[in-house]
Amino acid sequence: MKVLFLEDILAEAALNAMLVVNKEGTITLANPTAEVLFGYKKGELTGQKIEVLVPERFRAAHVEQRDSFFADPKIRSLGAGRDLFGCKKDGTEVPIEIGLNPIKTAEEIFVLASVIDITERKKIEQKLKDSAKEIAFLNGQLEQYAYITSHDLKEPLRAMYSYAALLEKKYKEKLDKNADDYINFIVGGAKRMESLINDLLEYTHIGSKRKPLTKTDCNKLLETVLKNLKVVISENNAKVACDSLPEIFTDENQISVLFQNLIVNAIKFTKHGSPEINISCKQEGSDWLFAIKDNGIGIPKEQKERIFQIFQRLHTKEEYEGTGIGLAICKKIVDLHGGKIWVESEEGKGSTFYFTLPMIYS
Ligand code: ADP
Repeated sequence: MKVLFLEDILAEAALNAMLVVNKEGTITLANPTAEVLFGYKKGELTGQKIEVLVPERFRAAHVEQRDSFFADPKIRSLGAGRDLFGCKKDGTEVPIEIGLNPIKTAEEIFVLASVIDITERKKIEQKLKDSAKEIAFLNGQLEQYAYITSHDLKEPLRAMYSYAALLEKKYKEKLDKNADDYINFIVGGAKRMESLINDLLEYTHIGSKRKPLTKTDCNKLLETVLKNLKVVISENNAKVACDSLPEIFTDENQISVLFQNLIVNAIKFTKHGSPEINISCKQEGSDWLFAIKDNGIGIPKEQKERIFQIFQRLHTKEEYEGTGIGLAICKKIVDLHGGKIWVESEEGKGSTFYFTLPMIYS
């Protein structure tokens, strides 16, 4: 049991509201901060029952709690993780946190209650909660807006594409060379726009419907992903090596897309020779850290963050096929699972994409 001396009490007295209460629940000492906090005049609290500072609905329970404290007097802190309120003289309530210290004298045992007014902290917490709610709401709206817009964009685009394709079919080599080129550009542009819209739809769709997480053996999941990529792997003569992977609670479809996008990129962004890909995983703190390493073209240092943004690419589509959505999707999936994704790379030598998934999902 910790025994406090008067010096200790006085040292702390100036900072916190302090109340000394005896076994019967009578306040024997209240410092000025306590009087100010609860709205009492000097000396007015001394001699009153401590329950006058407890909101009425909790008073009966408080008497029992006080008895059980004195039956087993230990240092305790109350209020962290649950809402605790004090009652002011005018009946209004104030959110508080309380620390209890037993004080033993030769004859009697007291409790020293140190009370902190957490009104400001509660206000900030509430503000954070409100803005998180607002952000979630706006994000939802934005996703819905992007989804509807891209859906609506597809209709006129389809008409443009069909008529341009019709022109191409009917008039190719019947007009002059320039006309053929122009029609070609329209068809190509419409095709590209269609794939951008489809990608945007896919991007906004991820996470729009929350599915319960299921226990996933990542080894089996990767096996299926590699089976689906069999043609790309063999056409590019790629070698994929993989360490043993853990079992995690995930949205299986999303994690498959994550692996697939990273592996396809590792195969795609090579210049010469066969792509060699290594997939590994280790525990790091409270996370699983996955790594997908390739021997490809690498990524310039200054572009390492930009590539995770939607439609951001470092090459023309003539150099490397694509729309720039793959890594943005990966980032969204990892974010939704509470992890992080980043790349480390050396130009000309290869890249390693890392992502973490919290172990709470294991
Ligand atoms: P896309 O593959 O359609 O271009 P991504 O979002 O998957 O779109 O990738 C964005 C850009 O990041 C790519 O255009 C490429 O420049 C770069 N990148 C992605 N993965 C790799 C990789 N493994 N090696 C080198 N560059 C990469």
